[in-house]
Amino acid sequence: MPAMPAVPAVPAAPSSPAVSVVIPVYNEEDVLPALFARLYAVLDGLGEPYEIIFVNDGSRDRSTQLLSAQFRLRPQVTRVVLFNGNFGQHMALMAGFSRVRGAIAITLDADLQNPPEEIPRLVAAIRAGHDYVGTVRRQRHDTAFRRIASRAMNALRERITRIHMTDQGCMLRAYDRALVDTLNACREMNTFIPALAYTFAASPTEIDVAHEERHAGESKYSFYKLIRLNFDLVTGFSTVPLQWFSVTGTVLSLCSAALFLLLLVRRFVWGAEVEGVFTLFALQFFLIGILLFGVGLLGEYVGRIQQEVRQRPRWRISAVLEALPPTPTELS
Ligand code: UDP
Ligand code: MG
Repeated sequence: MPAMPAVPAVPAAPSSPAVSVVIPVYNEEDVLPALFARLYAVLDGLGEPYEIIFVNDGSRDRSTQLLSAQFRLRPQVTRVVLFNGNFGQHMALMAGFSRVRGAIAITLDADLQNPPEEIPRLVAAIRAGHDYVGTVRRQRHDTAFRRIASRAMNALRERITRIHMTDQGCMLRAYDRALVDTLNACREMNTFIPALAYTFAASPTEIDVAHEERHAGESKYSFYKLIRLNFDLVTGFSTVPLQWFSVTGTVLSLCSAALFLLLLVRRFVWGAEVEGVFTLFALQFFLIGILLFGVGLLGEYVGRIQQEVRQRPRWRISAVLEALPPTPTELS
């Protein structure tokens, strides 16, 4: 395999901010004004230099205009990356990470489900010596279906991948500079940032955070997209499902060999028979079901390999709005 291109690590220059907040935005015109009001107030209150990197994931509503207006309002602390299409939340986060200048990176959803007011606690946890701060929503404000499904997926993922995240769905998380550099060296197409970061973290921790209902607009994750996301999580981080499948296959072939012997003996001892034909059908359908599941599972892995070997660019940026970095004379 050809060597991956080396990613130049962004050096933390003396002028670099203490905190970089990365926010993916996809059709969020209804929430952006409220987000701006609360987020900037919290970060101004930190009393330290910060930057906010919005990555617009190909929104088709007025999000781009709102982000541009906000950039003009606070150019020194705002940077906006505009994708020219919808490449997904995690690609938007990766594109944001590649531009992070701060010592600590915080990720946040645009919809205000993660209260920005929790950011200082995440910063404090990183400063206490952790390189990865995960979060657990104290009380979730999602539909009952989402809560139950995500609890079940959490449990399954935990068993399969050995990635410990009490609450995989909460995107309000913090990563230190070194971890961000490591993430920037990863080139995969379908990923899940919190899990990817966890696999590299040396001293991960989790804190409780508040959770709110989506401020406005609707979830960008359809049922189908959620299933896709969970496949990414499981097949992207582990080959255990394939091993389970081969174990199941082994057990089943032993059982069917035994059944074959039994039927053979019956045939010669009691003669030909047709009773039990439907039981055999049932057995057959069951085995075909397992076979199809296995083919699908293999397809998941093969599809991922295909996407990786193509080595296409993971996104395309149409414009970046950012103020020129201050010149040395401006700094002194
Ligand atoms: N998002 C994105 N690209 C997408 C889907 C979502 O950038 O293709 C962003 C979205 O704007 C939001 C975050 O990812 O900031 C989480 O999305 P959402 O709140 O819809 O997910 P949910 O909370 O329902 O899981
Ligand atoms: Mg949300």
